[in-house]
Amino acid sequence: MEIKTVGIVGAGQMGNGIAHVFAMSGYEVKLTDISQDALDRGLAVILKNLERQVSREKISAEERDATMGRISTTLSLIDIGPSDLIIEAASERETIKTAIFEDLQPHLKPTTILTSNTSSISITRLASRTDRPEKFMGLHFMNPVPVMKLVELIRGIATDDPTYQLMLKVVDSIGKTAASAEDFPAFIVNRILLPMINEAVYTLYEGVGNVKSIDLSLKLGAGHPMGPLELADFIGLDTCLAIMNVLHDGLADTKYRPCPLLTKYVEAGWLGRKSGRGFYDYRGETPVPTR
Ligand code: NAD
Repeated sequence: MEIKTVGIVGAGQMGNGIAHVFAMSGYEVKLTDISQDALDRGLAVILKNLERQVSREKISAEERDATMGRISTTLSLIDIGPSDLIIEAASERETIKTAIFEDLQPHLKPTTILTSNTSSISITRLASRTDRPEKFMGLHFMNPVPVMKLVELIRGIATDDPTYQLMLKVVDSIGKTAASAEDFPAFIVNRILLPMINEAVYTLYEGVGNVKSIDLSLKLGAGHPMGPLELADFIGLDTCLAIMNVLHDGLADTKYRPCPLLTKYVEAGWLGRKSGRGFYDYRGETPVPTR
């Protein structure tokens, strides 16, 4: 089977990045979201990122136009049903993801492969709610998608080998590198990264350091390109909290307890860059620490 058409659910930070890289590699992409605003913003971000690639002479103006021409948007989820491959990149809530796959089911082709970009939710459990667990996988992109090279490939317990092999080829065809992970909470990258971020929030919560000193310490002291709090804002604090909850619930170990301060920021609607405020305030010229 060959993949030509790709349906993407969710036009947020991840969905629009995924649409960008697939369309750049020649796939026909259909992007859907429940919000027209999110679709408009998603397309605007893709165009802005393509413009940047043109200005750096990484791609030509013709490639930019051809890429935009391969992306269409729709508010109706079922329009993407007949795609060869579906990538779900909606908000990190299991009920949302399950409902999306249930609504899509009557509109899929028998051969359609289903994937989720979930950061942490069980692929086996999501797959079990569909009519094709053998054609279901985790396809976990990293943020920002056009820049980051890795895609984690997660097989559910029922995923068959042809599906896995085909997804390896697809990842290769978009110029990314695959790392295979078993289906355990948060897989590999986030199993390691999120407890570090959560610990940075505890370090802030307990007053060991302030936002600036914590980020500076990890950048200059451990060679990290971004501080952990800066990175948390970049990922989205709601997504960080959701992943910590999945680790805490799924592994039943108190070492994964989400920091109460992380919960407080999310409850305040301070979700990081995407909402204009998180551990930093992004509403002015330069980001200002909020603590
Ligand atoms: P986001 O909040 O930027 O975007 C989510 C989008 O999903 C929103 O536009 C929202 O309107 C849309 N949505 C919500 N319910 C929907 C529905 N029923 N149908 C269609 N669209 C719906 O979030 P994001 O950061 O893009 O994360 C999306 C997914 O990618 C999550 O599962 C997240 O865990 C995963 N992920 C995120 C990162 C990251 O760094 N942010 C990295 C890897 C994976």
